[in-house]
Amino acid sequence: MLKKRVFVTRKIPSEGLDIINQEFHTSVWPDEFPPSKEEIVDMATDCEGMVTLLSDPIGADVIDQLPNLKVIAQYAVGYDNIDVKYATQKGIIVTNTPGVLTETTADLTWALIMSASRRIVEADRYVREGHWKVAWGPELLLGSDVFGATIGIVGMGRIGRAVARRAAGFNMKILYTARSVQDRDSEVAEQLGAQRVDLNTLLKASEIVTLHVPLTSDTTHLIGKSELAMMKPGSILINTSRGPVVDEDALYQALLTKQLGAAGLDVFTEEPIRLDSPLLQLANVVLAPHIGSASTRTRSTMAKMCAENLHVALSGAKPPNIVNPEVL
Ligand code: NAP
Repeated sequence: MLKKRVFVTRKIPSEGLDIINQEFHTSVWPDEFPPSKEEIVDMATDCEGMVTLLSDPIGADVIDQLPNLKVIAQYAVGYDNIDVKYATQKGIIVTNTPGVLTETTADLTWALIMSASRRIVEADRYVREGHWKVAWGPELLLGSDVFGATIGIVGMGRIGRAVARRAAGFNMKILYTARSVQDRDSEVAEQLGAQRVDLNTLLKASEIVTLHVPLTSDTTHLIGKSELAMMKPGSILINTSRGPVVDEDALYQALLTKQLGAAGLDVFTEEPIRLDSPLLQLANVVLAPHIGSASTRTRSTMAKMCAENLHVALSGAKPPNIVNPEVL
């Protein structure tokens, strides 16, 4: 039987790619830089399946040019780069890789919390650049305590809860916002003493605010000028969700004026961030290049999960991690 055609928009770990290669007639985008829309359409013409990354813009314009497409298997948990509504209208299954990257992304969130609070990146530069002249300074590189502080978790889903579990070990008071009432609310209240509040209350009461919502029309610029102004002076903002959840210009002003003490950012409005972005001039920002899920084990597991979703969906069954079950 003729193998189905699949386009993989970047080389993913072999644990998944080998499965895809075995089962399908596969083409893989060879470059380190992502393909353009035109290149995606060109490479995926005649394909029934596609493995996509969050940097691939899969809008209606792309979907319209791929008449054979049946499955988009996203290699990420977030899928804001895909027009899922339009894919659904066109009968295309969309899948993602939830859960397997939760703990790894929560670890990175904590790395940013610790680095921003205790000025680790500044301290490293201070030593390397030869500024460390006095053995111990009573007021050298003073930061803020994490232990015992109040953390505000915006979006108490999988990653938000994993961040909360770690916060409990730091004896923190945990506040959170969520969209819907769920069993989770009694669980996190009992196990972690976490308290559900509205966003304004969370912003006013927290020393550390960390964002874990998906990017949607509701969450775009969820944190803007007025929200930043509500935050405690000197508090810390962490974003490992998606860049556009924060108004970056307003964030820059809040950091510049020291309304915020520091920020830890893994995601940006434009990725890669431009080298002339003013955020790069600020010492009180810790920057990471969207590496939330970037551990060897997690990326391999994501690749396997993605391959499994693609395989099941293209065989006509319901894939384990379908984003748009209504399409069936
Ligand atoms: P999830 O389990 O779906 O959790 C998202 C949570 O956000 C849900 O609990 C949802 O609430 C809540 N939410 C949605 N809109 C909200 C709003 N307007 N206000 C408050 N809460 C809202 O997803 P996850 O696995 O934790 O992942 C979260 C996001 O992290 C992903 O969408 C992705 O963008 C990002 N991410 C980034 C990286 C990275 O590399 N930096 C890695 C992994 C994920 P309900 O349950 O009530 O709907």
